[in-house]
Amino acid sequence: MFQKVHIRLASLCAGITTFILLVMSFGYLYISEQGLRRSHFISFQNDMNTVISNLEQQTIITHEWLTRMEDNGKYLINIIDNGAPFLYNERSTSEQKQLFHIAWEVYERTFEITSLTNTLATYHEDFLFSSKGSRSNDYYACVATSERSNGTFQVMLLCSMEPLLRQIRTQRILFLTLDIFASFLLVLFSFYFTKRILKPLEENQRQQSQFIASASHELRTPLAVILSCASASLKASEKEQVHFIESIQSEGLRMSRLIDDMLLLTKADSCRWSIQKTPTELDTLLLDTFEAFEPIASEKSIRLFIRLPEEAVPAVLCDKERIRQVLAILLHNAISYTPEGGRIELLLTYDSKMLQLLVSDNGIGIPDDKKEHIFERFYRADQSRSDKDHFGLGLCIAAEIVAAHNGQLLVSDTPGGGSTFTVVLSNRLR
Ligand code: ADP
Repeated sequence: MFQKVHIRLASLCAGITTFILLVMSFGYLYISEQGLRRSHFISFQNDMNTVISNLEQQTIITHEWLTRMEDNGKYLINIIDNGAPFLYNERSTSEQKQLFHIAWEVYERTFEITSLTNTLATYHEDFLFSSKGSRSNDYYACVATSERSNGTFQVMLLCSMEPLLRQIRTQRILFLTLDIFASFLLVLFSFYFTKRILKPLEENQRQQSQFIASASHELRTPLAVILSCASASLKASEKEQVHFIESIQSEGLRMSRLIDDMLLLTKADSCRWSIQKTPTELDTLLLDTFEAFEPIASEKSIRLFIRLPEEAVPAVLCDKERIRQVLAILLHNAISYTPEGGRIELLLTYDSKMLQLLVSDNGIGIPDDKKEHIFERFYRADQSRSDKDHFGLGLCIAAEIVAAHNGQLLVSDTPGGGSTFTVVLSNRLR
């Protein structure tokens, strides 16, 4: 499922970014080409203006001057003096002569030739023409006409657009190559980026599935007991029926406790936990918990101790009932995992910055490689122990409650053996 979403998201991301890239680069390319064409034409016009002003000033047109004007083949020049081809035209190749022939035809077709006899003036016409219909044979053309006392003198200048078109072609190939390369990078980036975005979601879904699988597994056992007790009670004597009903009740209670725990964690996941913080004296809270658990501990011949600071501990802002729940989970575990004759200690320490609640036992302890897992859902360090009251959810609930108070729940080894759980809370009334 995630692979499909990943591919779709990556394609969408790559598609949009590539589209934006292409629109921007084509836009830029278009503007740049327009600029090139404009500057090419302006440069042609400037050169024409020079030729025209020279024409106006010079009475004798020499071959040297015309050769200079041709600028090493950049321009082609053709002159008509009083309607007859100038001698200079003989230098042109037959192909060039053909070209001028077409150009003059286009010129005469396009512009109305009016003789300005007696006005002695020089004027010019610019136009674009294509010699063979293909774009590579496009030319800028300019015909300057000089009306002189001894007749009309016409100069045609042709400038091939081939260098400009070549430059445009090179630029297009460059842009295309860059676009392909950038699109490829964008596709790679999109795949990597979307994979990173989806990773936490994937992990979350994996955890959810694991949670559901574990929850179903945990619920199956009491449910199986309830069903078999119910069917057995149908054929049982009255005395046996009471025993089966008691079993059904106790398994029902177990299921209800498990469901409560799961609901609590689900609420924590969706941030729907209501933490009602009130100023709380934690020494009093610890004493209350101690008194509540002492009978349970002594039932298992475990000695329970409490150590509080001699002076009164300042009140801190926390959810009293939730912190009581944390202490209950830790004490319940400590009693469960400490053998008979063991000892458990409750300790409260504080300084100006923080406050620590410690539940320390000398029980079976937790191996180092398992410490990082004990806060995971449905995790039990010792899978062989199938204590019915332990679902592997207690410590994650405790950790969620402490985290909701911006605190920390830490685990360490008790010197001499056993485990110590420490709840660290900020010592501030806020
Ligand atoms: P459980 O309901 O199984 O106790 P918890 O989440 O409370 O689940 O604890 C997870 C695991 O951490 C337990 O299965 C146990 O292996 C280990 N554990 C918790 N507290 C202690 C302790 N005081 N001493 C030794 N092991 C402990």
